[in-house]
Amino acid sequence: MSLPVAVLSALFGGAAAAFLPRVTHRLSVPRGSPPRAVCATCQTSFSTWVSVGAPCRCAPPPVWTIATGALVTGLLGATVGPTPLLAVLLPAAVLGILLAAVDLRCLRLPNPLVAVLAAVTVVPLGLSALLIGEPDRLARAGLAALLTGLVYLLVALLPGAGLGLGDVKLAAVLCFTLGFAGWPAVAIGLLTPHLINGPIALTLLLTRRAKRRTALPLGPALLIGALVALVTT
Ligand SMILES: [Zn+2]
Repeated sequence: MSLPVAVLSALFGGAAAAFLPRVTHRLSVPRGSPPRAVCATCQTSFSTWVSVGAPCRCAPPPVWTIATGALVTGLLGATVGPTPLLAVLLPAAVLGILLAAVDLRCLRLPNPLVAVLAAVTVVPLGLSALLIGEPDRLARAGLAALLTGLVYLLVALLPGAGLGLGDVKLAAVLCFTLGFAGWPAVAIGLLTPHLINGPIALTLLLTRRAKRRTALPLGPALLIGALVALVTT
């Protein structure tokens, strides 16, 4: 473990996460609705997409978002170390926190965000595999993404599956990075989300806080699964 890299990564993640609350607030709308133009609480209109700190003057400081950003990137810095891979993973982790926050609020994984996550991971990882002369890594990553995307798509097409197309796309994009790391990372990344959401769904059912068909966001669990896979393999 590299402590300086962990600290620097955590500082980057915490600082970058401070820019997320307003984007999260503006994108957290029901499917098909335009992004929020005004604050949902005090109706102040937003002139920008990004601001540092709280989404609006009426909201408290985003302590948890900043702490999550610092924790996730600090963990990646500590385990991945000062490698080119870390330079790809840190901004991807910040995007992942944004995706998870939006999914938790409105059960959506907006296509543009998933597309940006794909662009900032698939392109540099693919190019680096070719540059360092490891095309088999690129092939493994592509195969992992393709297989995951196909299986998730088949499940999503089953009636009452509760799996959205956003989940399918996110799972495929994440599995490219996990495939780049290796098959064990893919396995952990695919298993962990269900170990997280399964007990949560069961608890909600048993305590009657949810019905059998209540949708549970899968995006945050997929992202945590990818993080667990990257820091443990
Ligand atoms: Zn407000």
